[in-house]
Amino acid sequence: MRVLIISDIHANLAAFEAVLADAAGHWDIIWFLGDLVGYGPDPNECVTELQKHSHIGLSGNHDQAVLGNLDVKLFNREANYALNWTRETLNEESRIYLESVPSKTVTEPFTLAHASPRYPVWEYIIDPTTAAENFDWFQTPYCFVGHTHVPVIFEERHNTHREIFMRAPYYMEAGVPFILGEDRLIINPGSVGQPRDSDPRAAYALLDTEELICTFKRVDYPISVTQRRMEKFGMPRRLIERLAHGV
Ligand code: ZN
Repeated sequence: MRVLIISDIHANLAAFEAVLADAAGHWDIIWFLGDLVGYGPDPNECVTELQKHSHIGLSGNHDQAVLGNLDVKLFNREANYALNWTRETLNEESRIYLESVPSKTVTEPFTLAHASPRYPVWEYIIDPTTAAENFDWFQTPYCFVGHTHVPVIFEERHNTHREIFMRAPYYMEAGVPFILGEDRLIINPGSVGQPRDSDPRAAYALLDTEELICTFKRVDYPISVTQRRMEKFGMPRRLIERLAHGV
């Protein structure tokens, strides 16, 4: 099976559509790792688009906040503005969909979690120490996570002792396929709708579950289209500008 792995769309339909167009013909199912809404101007449109495709979906911290399941005080002022706007804008059908998805699931030999296998809704795996703790919280060989908006791979190796390696972004830049081998991995494909690794292009990954080959990909999208819609809805300046810089 060929899987399109995406995360953190954040209501950015232009970025989502660019990923679907770029990956067209290369996948059979979508694994979406959560945060479909929050920040961006197209929450209902993104829910509708995702539902058109065969997929496994997860719920992220922004999705949970929009549903009223998380304290908005946990978010900064700008994110809060977007969350309130999203809550007012979300239609009943979108709400029902967001309420129907979990934050963590297993599809052998993969665990999928929005933030981390330990705290599926909110934990940032950005360093080998946090990754090391999380390897004890899933049983499958591999785990895909989103939430940080930064593509990365953590690898657990057992030589004389256990070591956690954070793989260089070599794979992500070149689009070079890599083989999922004997070592357990935590893999983050990055964010579709709000990348934060100083590369404003939408990020995603392709996975072949038979060959166990994964490829990180990036694609340009019309950022100004999303920015203009955010301006129209009075979104905070910083949220609009960060899309152009990928931060
Ligand atoms: Zn997110």
